[in-house]
Amino acid sequence: MKYRWVVSLVLLIVATSVGVKAQAGFTVGTATATPGQKATGFLEVPAGVDAATSIPVVVVRGAKPGPVLALVSGAHGTEYASIIALEKVIQILDPIAVQGTVIIVPLVNIQSFEQKVPHVNPVDGKSMNRFYPGKPDGTQTERASWLITKQVVERCDYLIDYHGGDLDENLRPYSYWPKTGNAKQDATTHDMVLAFGLDHIIVWSDRPADPSASRYLDNTANTRGKPAIAVEAGYSGTVQPDDVHALVNGTMSVMRYLKMLPGSPVMVEHPVWFGKIDTVTGDLPGIFYPLVQRGTYVEQGMKLGYVTDYFGNTIYEAHAPAAGVVLYICAVPSMKKGDTIANIGEITNNP
Ligand SMILES: [Zn+2]
Repeated sequence: MKYRWVVSLVLLIVATSVGVKAQAGFTVGTATATPGQKATGFLEVPAGVDAATSIPVVVVRGAKPGPVLALVSGAHGTEYASIIALEKVIQILDPIAVQGTVIIVPLVNIQSFEQKVPHVNPVDGKSMNRFYPGKPDGTQTERASWLITKQVVERCDYLIDYHGGDLDENLRPYSYWPKTGNAKQDATTHDMVLAFGLDHIIVWSDRPADPSASRYLDNTANTRGKPAIAVEAGYSGTVQPDDVHALVNGTMSVMRYLKMLPGSPVMVEHPVWFGKIDTVTGDLPGIFYPLVQRGTYVEQGMKLGYVTDYFGNTIYEAHAPAAGVVLYICAVPSMKKGDTIANIGEITNNP
């Protein structure tokens, strides 16, 4: 009896001390994870002026306390490499090794993914990364954005939004450094993009500052004081191992930077910074023929491609408006007036 009593007392002391250090359960949508657990569930977007939708969500609750990091992909459901990367992250992350909590939303725009529709949610024709912070009584994109703002952005401390070249975008990998003017937050996001490891980085300093009109997901987090970055890899519907690995390894490196995983992050030592992006658009509808590859350095005036009519006559030539790197170029022959032919990043030595 006495021995049993001592064992019980020891167990009680151990349980109490563990209880002080451990964290409580964490719920996002229908997913609840207790410390040391990985749980899956859905963000249930109720029906409104159009149909309801269920967005998959995973909560990885580390055994030890730490920050909450949100990882979101598939706002554009045919930017496949970014979606597959987060599917891998869901499998790789071991809650026993994680300090803090990771919220993973691997596929925001399910209808786009299922129906293979680029750029928009086919339910309401809206981009799912342009209507943040969303509205509880809007169309499906707005209601989903509202739920993600409330359930994911407001609950996290840091956020990474994953994108890539869409079905019609031949893109080389890059990330965005959102420069807000808040020195402390900018220093953190600066380190996050360097830790992520993509060596081409766009400095984005003209983003909306109003949290009620934040438009983009990462900007919704940044305008709420939560450091957030956006990253892009993958192109034209492909799932290349190099692109997926870059996104998975970048995620692990940022988690090391945030001290959510053991080890040191690998920081980009010599990034190429872009201070300005030039978007070249098509002037006339027709058939597009590219003349340069993604990632090519072009001088001002260089021919990027041309458009013919449906009889093969050249009707438009696209030229680089400035020297820079082709971050992406149209990947398909379809061209209508106003479509993007290419995005050129102008290099800056003073980011
Ligand atoms: Zn995207």
